[in-house]
Amino acid sequence: MYDVETIRKDFPILSREVNGKPLVYLDNGASAQKPNVVIDAITNAYAHEYSNVHRGLHYLSNVATEKYEAVRGTVQRFLNAASENEIVMNSGTTEGINLIAYSWAMPRMEAGDEIILSVMEHHANIVPWHFLRERQGVKLVWVDVDETGGLDPQKVLDAITPKTKLIAVTHLSNVLGSRVDVKTITAGAHAKGVPVLVDGSQAAVHMPVDVRDIGCDFYAITGHKLYGPSGSGAIYIRADRQAEMRPFMGGGDMIREVHKDAITWNDPPMKFEAGTPGIVQQIGLGVALHYMMDLGMANIAAYENTLRDYTRTRLDGLNWLNVQGTTQDKAAIFSFTMTGAAHAHDISTVLDKKGVAVRAGQHCVGPLMDYLGVSATCRASFGLYNTEAEVDTLIDALELCHELFD
Ligand code: PLP
Repeated sequence: MYDVETIRKDFPILSREVNGKPLVYLDNGASAQKPNVVIDAITNAYAHEYSNVHRGLHYLSNVATEKYEAVRGTVQRFLNAASENEIVMNSGTTEGINLIAYSWAMPRMEAGDEIILSVMEHHANIVPWHFLRERQGVKLVWVDVDETGGLDPQKVLDAITPKTKLIAVTHLSNVLGSRVDVKTITAGAHAKGVPVLVDGSQAAVHMPVDVRDIGCDFYAITGHKLYGPSGSGAIYIRADRQAEMRPFMGGGDMIREVHKDAITWNDPPMKFEAGTPGIVQQIGLGVALHYMMDLGMANIAAYENTLRDYTRTRLDGLNWLNVQGTTQDKAAIFSFTMTGAAHAHDISTVLDKKGVAVRAGQHCVGPLMDYLGVSATCRASFGLYNTEAEVDTLIDALELCHELFD
């Protein structure tokens, strides 16, 4: 049984107060809080098991290497990849997508080639492709969402032309909460020989992910949203795509031999992991993923869907609030603006006084903000430890804000 009150006790920060009020943390879309098991694992790694990895022959280096490498297997199971060698560890989604842009896309794209993006992509899945546009004349082709914030997979597939070299799309919008049918997109794209990169930064937090079932070529996740440390993460790169990639960053660990006039690469995935990695961050990520898998991703999704439905009903009762993203198939992520004078920043400041942490601004989705015709929104994004009582606190704080600014 999913017992949220017991789960909350695993997260020490949730029992603190902010501005004299109990913390209501609804900024999980930006970064999630950490359970004791992760905090303890970090302390333990530094206190008892720390050393650099891969290069040492001494005891501590072997222990650290084993712990670090075990995380690759954990990520493999979390994403249901075929092999742990398909998991490249990194500092998060931004690094993962940049790796694909530099290592896979850059050498095989030329002027006039096209990359299809949805209008609701995060900057991490936009800016690396803009580099290719600026440097190589690659064209970015944008697919809009519908009026509910849903993305029709057929519209993405209809955008494919003989020039399309890649589809790069989110699995779940960080602002609208919309889920994207990346399996249908991948099947249709592959039928036309087009690879698919999925930004799983948000989706992997809220639902089970199976990269083999999706069939995608690349799938990026970021540890700090998965209840793990910041600076941790991974990207799934299917083995055949890895074989097509040159390394992006050069340095230690990613090479086999270095001479004055020649180098040979290490095998993947090490070929794509240059330098000393975020050893302890990754160890923390492994523990966080175990924590989530122990709760059960399907259980987390079911619980959060109940929370989403409750929040939706409560927000629907506020006729002075405009919620962006009304599609039924969404996670518990709600972006909104208020009619009247209150700017998103005002709303978040008033909410903060009530102990409610939400995010206000552009949420790193410039094209979506343009498309929605808003300069900023407020976003309440829920995690596995939030409760209906916290939704009520949010609603009370919003009502106060409405009174103040109306
Ligand atoms: N993609 C999405 C959908 C996100 O929500 C985020 C973070 O907000 C990112 C990518 C970037 O993740 P990171 O900053 O951890 O690399």
